[in-house]
Amino acid sequence: MNLARKLWLRCRDLFPFAGFHFDRPLVLLQSDDWGRAGLRDQEGLEQLRSAGLVLGERPYDLYTLETAEDVAALSDVLKRHRDSSGHHPCVQMNFILANLDFAQMSADDFRRIHVLPLVEGLPRGWSRPGLIEAYREGIADGVFYPALHGTTHFCRSAVERNLAKGGDRAELLRTLWRAGTPYIHWRMPWIGYEYWDPEKPEGGGSLPAETQLELIDQAVGAFASLFSTLPHSACAPGYRANDDTHRAWAQHGVSVAQNGPGRLVPPHFDRHGVLHLSRTVEFEPAVNATFSVDACLGQAEACFDQGMPAIVSVHSINFHSTVRDLRSRTLQFLGEFLSALESKHADLLYLHDENLHELVNKGCYKSAGGTVQVNVTKRSFTKAALAQRQA
Ligand SMILES: [Zn+2]
Repeated sequence: MNLARKLWLRCRDLFPFAGFHFDRPLVLLQSDDWGRAGLRDQEGLEQLRSAGLVLGERPYDLYTLETAEDVAALSDVLKRHRDSSGHHPCVQMNFILANLDFAQMSADDFRRIHVLPLVEGLPRGWSRPGLIEAYREGIADGVFYPALHGTTHFCRSAVERNLAKGGDRAELLRTLWRAGTPYIHWRMPWIGYEYWDPEKPEGGGSLPAETQLELIDQAVGAFASLFSTLPHSACAPGYRANDDTHRAWAQHGVSVAQNGPGRLVPPHFDRHGVLHLSRTVEFEPAVNATFSVDACLGQAEACFDQGMPAIVSVHSINFHSTVRDLRSRTLQFLGEFLSALESKHADLLYLHDENLHELVNKGCYKSAGGTVQVNVTKRSFTKAALAQRQA
């Protein structure tokens, strides 16, 4: 990074933002990677094992894809809970809107990428009867809310460059693709994330603004054909978004940007008029060996103490079941977590991003049961001061 850029980043941390604070405990559930195919179940596992891969070293080796039953079981748990206004908790599902079209790619001798939109089905070898209907049912019931993750999770130009170069990396990609698995990120971090190429020749990092705009245009189109609506909220794959990503989202009508966990940053608007939310509770029993419901409750209380919403991060892997049952444990913990919040806070509210956006603009939000009022106050903050206070 050159000196001018470093100085600019440091100055940016000194800009004052207006942060929003609330007088009631608010809980949002944000969940990434829905619709993204991984390991092709037991059959894919065996195929990769016989190709020499030792799977099971890390949880994401066994990331598969949710089934209609996984989605329905989550919906059932959410429907057993209600907030003080009578609403169920709502899991905001961030979708990956395409998978790799392995049939076309193998006809091409795996020399380039072809994508298959989720709305057209799943790649060859994959079977998930009723999955799309299960998503739609939960959305209609108000327990799911669809949002944008991306078209592909990985950076297409990074994959294509490594494929063209040949060698071990290209061989690993082809081995996975022959087994119907797009990638396993931790084994190949050089594939980057959709808007971020770690090794791009002109210097690793975010893709140029015009490329991001084009990719976001495709993703929004694929989202609209799947859900017959436009996305209001988005989370960049790998949380790798920059100002160009936010501008492109704003141009496509996205009004909320989801950011990864880290510091407790209050919701605030950026210069494109996009509301930024940062995750504050890491609810990831499938990937966190030291996970505990109590620790998550502690993280939520720390948010409420500062008048900030508890924004829970829970990736789709936690609900998978086909190779290893990760779902049962997660659902049990999730039930305990929600029950504890409900019994401690008589004024608890479950929202999704669009509700929160309406709330900061109007001091209330509309929902199926009527209008919910919350006192919203604005307090100025700088990222530098937050960093110092929370160091
Ligand atoms: Zn993701």
